[in-house]
Amino acid sequence: MILISACLVGQNVRYDGGNKLNNELKSLVDQGLAKPICPEILGGLTIPRNPAEIVGGDGFDVLKNKAKIIDIQGNNVTDEYINGAIKALDICKKMKCKTLILKSDSPTCSSQSIYSGKFNGSKKQGIGIFAALLIKNGIQVYDEKNYKI
Ligand code: SF4
Repeated sequence: MILISACLVGQNVRYDGGNKLNNELKSLVDQGLAKPICPEILGGLTIPRNPAEIVGGDGFDVLKNKAKIIDIQGNNVTDEYINGAIKALDICKKMKCKTLILKSDSPTCSSQSIYSGKFNGSKKQGIGIFAALLIKNGIQVYDEKNYKI
């Protein structure tokens, strides 16, 4: 089974209540070959919610307690993001999922780059908290630009 970021298959789970529909990925769900997942919702975050960025590093650093996830109003939402990533990993393991296609640039899902933590639209190399947890558990992560099925 393949897991795909829910926002990529048209579910309105993004912080702004929108989605980032990718029709090719949605067709995998429609054919029963993949299922959607949204770690931030699993972590108890609401729709809509404040946008958040990783400050002081990337997802690996958050897992090492060396960086935090802060929303645009300055609230520390690290625990919610970690909880969601742990719950999503658990689902992934129970489903024996070997392939994940996750949204780029997200503080949770991204596997290439993330926003800088300065809330000015700039990005930096690094990965999100869920992607980091998956990689630590030996699970391959793709995004919507580089996936292979
Ligand atoms: Fe949810 Fe990941 Fe999409 Fe963010 S990028 S809305 S955490 S599925």
